[in-house]
Amino acid sequence: MGRIAMVGGGIVGTCAAMMLARDGHDVTVLERDPTPPPPPNSAWADWERRGVNQFRMVHYFLPKFREVAEQELPGLTEAMVAAGALRNNPIDGAPADITGGRRAGDERFDTVTARRPVAESVVAAMAATTPGLTIRRGIAVVGLLATVGPNGVVHVTGVRTADGEEITADLVVDAGGRRSAMAQWLRDCGSPGPVEVIEDSGFVYYARHFRSPDGSVPPAFGGLLQPYGSISILTLPADNGTWGVGVIASSKDAALRALLDVECWERVVKSYPLVAHWIDAEPITNVELMAKIEDRQRTYVIDGLPVATGVVPLADAWACTNPSLGRGISIGLIHAAALRTLLHDENFGDPTALAVRWSEVTAETVQPLFHDTLNFDRHRLAEIEAAMKGHDYETTDPAWLLGKALETAMFHDPDLLRGFIDIASLTARGADVMARPGLAERAMALADPTPPPGPDRGGLLALIGA
Ligand SMILES: Cc1cc2nc3c(=O)[nH]c(=O)nc-3n(C[C@H](O)[C@H](O)[C@H](O)COP(=O)(O)OP(=O)(O)OC[C@H]3O[C@@H](n4cnc5c(N)ncnc54)[C@H](O)[C@@H]3O)c2cc1C
Repeated sequence: MGRIAMVGGGIVGTCAAMMLARDGHDVTVLERDPTPPPPPNSAWADWERRGVNQFRMVHYFLPKFREVAEQELPGLTEAMVAAGALRNNPIDGAPADITGGRRAGDERFDTVTARRPVAESVVAAMAATTPGLTIRRGIAVVGLLATVGPNGVVHVTGVRTADGEEITADLVVDAGGRRSAMAQWLRDCGSPGPVEVIEDSGFVYYARHFRSPDGSVPPAFGGLLQPYGSISILTLPADNGTWGVGVIASSKDAALRALLDVECWERVVKSYPLVAHWIDAEPITNVELMAKIEDRQRTYVIDGLPVATGVVPLADAWACTNPSLGRGISIGLIHAAALRTLLHDENFGDPTALAVRWSEVTAETVQPLFHDTLNFDRHRLAEIEAAMKGHDYETTDPAWLLGKALETAMFHDPDLLRGFIDIASLTARGADVMARPGLAERAMALADPTPPPGPDRGGLLALIGA
């Protein structure tokens, strides 16, 4: 068991810290934001979190989050529900002639979801009472303590804080999120730093939150993420009768910046009949913009050699993407559970082997999910940009074509519906779903090319007055 210093106490970092402390490690989380977490019922209004840009943007917690949380952090999802998180199952919310009724195994789609500040305050409250875990807020890490090993590789032995404090550790976990400065700190110590691949994801979000008078959430007529030519619309149920609605567009679509105007945004969402009813309620925010969202991956082991030892990247600090599939926290939790497993019997005596093994574990557990997500996003962005020019999107990638077929065919076959929900829930990968006997053939045969109801590109531009 070791002393672990975690940089960043965001939602995944804090969950990982709890998992590691429960396994017997001595864990200290250093979180730059000073505000102590308010109770869940005031977290939305009161919790200032400058360190997380997307703190009040629409969030959804997939069934995979619930599954990993139930295994690794017993009591967390129950505490979320006690704070008003919504527990539901998409099979129960859809008509029986589409679902074929409840089946054994459908419980894998059980979901516990909430607005991000509400969920994170529940996580923080649980962390505050976890033995072996110390959370220090208002402590900014500004650099590393390091030596150079006999092989010339920088070995991290701790962190330095903005107050000049030096905190030593057997392992530093970087949970500093998508904008983590770890690469620069490593370079400052003489390491080449991780190889970073960064690209603008190309998407922009115009989102609002709503509340119902009676604690209910609107029924879903289709998936949570619905593609409509040059935009997608997200409808995400949350806690205490609240939910988020987001319009996602290409960041190149200058005309759609008009969506920042509340009246224009409402006119547009109301014109799509399958989602219009989601905004027939009390708004609790104006239109919030999230732009300049990067896809980013940091690789710490190159040709079998770590760029540094004594430090491992976790969750968004390892890799992050455009969030329209709502996977970031679930992938992060899978990553956190994998770190807990890796460190279970670790004595920290061979830092090079540990760094290499973490890179392998990352490649086995979360890298394929990251790649699937990027693949989906690249196709969807190309499809959006084709629609902006008035074309259909042409591709021969069978994974994309099958996924598109499944999106409409799922309404005509309960097995296809479950395949679609598995992919959306992260309970199975697309390639594994498509490999189920006969599923791909049935999806292609039942696919419906008719676009869902709503304005085409010309109609959309007319609505926003472009
Ligand atoms: C617009 C948007 C919508 C999203 N929607 C969803 C969704 O619906 N579902 C989903 O699963 N995911 C979603 N995500 C992704 C999700 O927000 C991230 O995957 C998640 O926040 C990652 O958690 P984390 O703990 O790794 O990092 P973060 O939550 O970003 O936390 C990082 C923490 O590190 C701290 N920190 C940084 N630097 C330092 C330092 N030097 N010293 C001390 N502390 C430091 C920060 O203050 C912060 O608290 C969305 C992302 C965006 C951008």
